Parts: sequence; structure tokens; C-alpha cells
Amino acid sequence: MPLMRSFRAQLTALYLAFFSLLFVLFSIFLYGELSRSLTARLDNTLASEADTAAGLFRDEFQEMNGGTLAAAREVVSEMKVRGDSVAIREGSRVLAASPEFTPNPRGRRASRTVQAGGRTYHIEVSAPLDAIHAELAVVRRAIFIALPLILALAGLGGYLLATRSLRPLGWMAEQARRITGSNLETRIEIDDAAEELSVLVASFNELLSRLDRSFDTMRRFVADASHELRTPISVIRGEADVALTQERSPAEYRESLTVILDEARRLSCLVDDLLNLARADAGHVMLQTHDFYLNELLVECCRSVRGLANTRGLALECLADDDLQFTGDEQLLRRLVINLLDNAIRYTPSGGKVTVALETGAASVQLRVSDTGIGIAPADAARVFERFYRAGEARSRQDGGFGLGLAIVRWIAESHRGTVECASDFGQGSTFTVTLPK
Ligand code: ADP
Repeated sequence: MPLMRSFRAQLTALYLAFFSLLFVLFSIFLYGELSRSLTARLDNTLASEADTAAGLFRDEFQEMNGGTLAAAREVVSEMKVRGDSVAIREGSRVLAASPEFTPNPRGRRASRTVQAGGRTYHIEVSAPLDAIHAELAVVRRAIFIALPLILALAGLGGYLLATRSLRPLGWMAEQARRITGSNLETRIEIDDAAEELSVLVASFNELLSRLDRSFDTMRRFVADASHELRTPISVIRGEADVALTQERSPAEYRESLTVILDEARRLSCLVDDLLNLARADAGHVMLQTHDFYLNELLVECCRSVRGLANTRGLALECLADDDLQFTGDEQLLRRLVINLLDNAIRYTPSGGKVTVALETGAASVQLRVSDTGIGIAPADAARVFERFYRAGEARSRQDGGFGLGLAIVRWIAESHRGTVECASDFGQGSTFTVTLPK
């Protein structure tokens, strides 16, 4: 792995760079402050020495009764004892000066003016900067020795810190690596995870939950679909086997073929439904929307199931007289209404009534299919929209469908940004209400 692609290396480098910069800035500040304060202290000392020298010169001048040169020499020698180099001038004439006093020294100096005997004398005290330079050199050396040490420590600290912070990520990756399609129920666990990492772990676990749920739904769907496909296929095979075992009369062959055709039709309906749902899941269904009259659609649907309702001895009422223009996929909505009507007719005993009604609200349209049939138990009502769910023991495959009709109804309603609800009095009848935004 290239060095800088490693998060740990990046963190270490950042830490190191930050500490180096901090140390260098701090050293520069410290060095500058020290140099300034040493120079200021020297200036203070020189100023007070200059005051002392000026006082001495005044005293000596009086003592010597105006012997300027002698007074100046006396001051220079006294100051020499104190370790200072002094020069005493009258104008540009040097009266006396310490031997080490140079007129233009690379050092600090302080000067005083003294009036004595009606004349003006200049007293200068100077000191070289050597001592300060020596002290600063010691500090510089200390900084240069400390710098690599500090950098090494900062690098090591950064590396350890990065390793420590990244360790839980390693654990996470290790646990995640062990999760496959067959153990999606496993969750990632990290003790004492930092707040940011807890969020990551929680999001990852939520993702696993969602994946687990969809895998589960998919597995159930495949199992249910295979199960449903098996039954008509066994009926077809059984019927053909029986018909072929011996010579049959044309009427018997016709009867067998009718059974086979019926089952093949059921099979093809099932395959159509499965295909539709699979396309819907994959998001491949494009709504073919256009304007049409929803009330007319309901009337047409009622017309096409009226024959079936009559055969079953049911009354069919269609309350959709007012024109209602709607924009949507007419084919799919027709399918929705037919599925609901088909169920209402199938699950209502003879003598009952099926009603279709259309109501317009301010922002939505309500399409209601109600029957006076066997109803749905409260426990089942919540699940009838699930794929392959069929309520109650009594609903055998023969008088019911595959349990996909309402799943398709819900998908069509939702693809029109609508909802579908089921209200039912068990044993009294059911009402399915589809609400579609206008
Ligand atoms: P099916 O093809 O079995 O009718 P659906 O998805 O259309 O599948 O319906 C699921 C289940 O909901 C049905 O098996 C049935 O038990 C119940 N159901 C649907 N509509 C009605 C109704 N109008 N009255 C009573 N039960 C119903």
C-alpha cells in the first residue's frame, strides 16, 4: 500500500507536522523573548552604571578642585574595578577611557551628560554582547538537541494514537468479512466504541437488517412461487399421465384437455403476476399515463364482471355517475379495480351484494369496493396485501387465487402515489378503499 494511502500514515504525518510546527514556533518565540529580555537587562545595568559613573565624576571633579583629567582617570579606574568599560569625553576630546573601550563597539552602551565647572562632559559606559550571545548559544544548542527528540516522540505518539483510534475499524472489517448471505442476521459489535464509530456501526447494522429483510422476502417469494407453480404443473402432468395410460374415448380426452387448459391458464396468470411484481420490484415498470374518465373505467370494469356476479347470484352496484377526469395508467388501474371486484365476488356468498363507489375529495379520489361477504379476520386484515398470503383455512386454492391479487393492487396504488386500506367486519363483509392523489 503506498505510504500516503494509509490512513494511519496520514494521521501520523499530520500529528508530526503539527507538533514540529508548534515546537519550531515555540522555540522561535522563546529565543526571541530571551534575547530581548537579556538585552533589556544589560541596558538597565548599563544605565545604572552610567548614573554611577556620572555621580563619581561629579564627586571627583569637586574633590580634585576642577582637575578634569585626574577626575576622569579616577572614574575610569574605579569603574574598571566594577568590571565596566567607560570613556569620558569633553566634546570630541577623550579625557580618559578604559583600554577595552572602543569608540564603536559591537555592544550596548549608555551615556550621561555631566555639567561641571561650566563645561559639558559626556560619560559613556559600554558592554559587549558576548555574554548574551554565549547564553543564547546554549539555548540554541538545547533547542537543536531537543528538536529531533521531540519529533521522534511526536511521530511515535501520532503512530500509537492513530493505531489505537483505527483498531476498532479493523475489528469492524474483520467482523464484516465474516458476514455472508447465509448469516445476515449477524450484527457487528464493538465495545466502548467512540461516538463517531457507534454511528458507523449502527448504520452498518441497519444496512444488514435491511439486507436481511430483503433476502428473507426474496427467499420466501422464491419458495412460495415454486410452491404455487408446482401444483398446476402436477395437475397437468397427472391428467396427461392418466389420459395416456390407455386408449380413451374422444369425450374423455376432451375432458382431460379441458382440465389441462384450465391449469395452463392459471399457470399463465400466475407467471404474468409474478413477472409484473418482479418488474415492479426492479423498478422497470414505466407508467403509461394519460387522461381518462375514472368513472367510465369503473363502469366498464363492472360491465366485464357483471356476468360472473350474476352467475354467483350477487347484486352488483356501481356508484360512479359523475364525470371524473384523472391522469394515470389506465391499464394498471383497470387491473386494480378488476382484482378488487374479483375478490369481492369470489368471497361473497350467493344473495350478497358488491358495491363500487367513486368519491372526489379536494386533493384526492377515493375508490371503494365493498361487499357483504365472509369478511376478513382482524389478524388477517393486516397481512392480506402480502404476496402469496391467503387468509383462513377455508380458502382453498380452488376457490381462491394465488394470493398475489392484493399485492398487485397495493403496488399499482403506490405507483400512483396512492394508498389502499382494508376495513372488514368478520362475517359481515369487507371494504377496500384506494385513495389516489388527483
Ligand atoms: P387471492 O388471489 O387469494 O384472492 P389476494 O391477494 O387477492 O389473493 O387476496 C388475499 C387474501 O385476502 C385472499 O386469499 C382472501 O383470503 C382475502 N380477501 C381478499 N379480498 C377479500 C374480500 N373481499 N373478502 C374476504 N376476503 C378477502
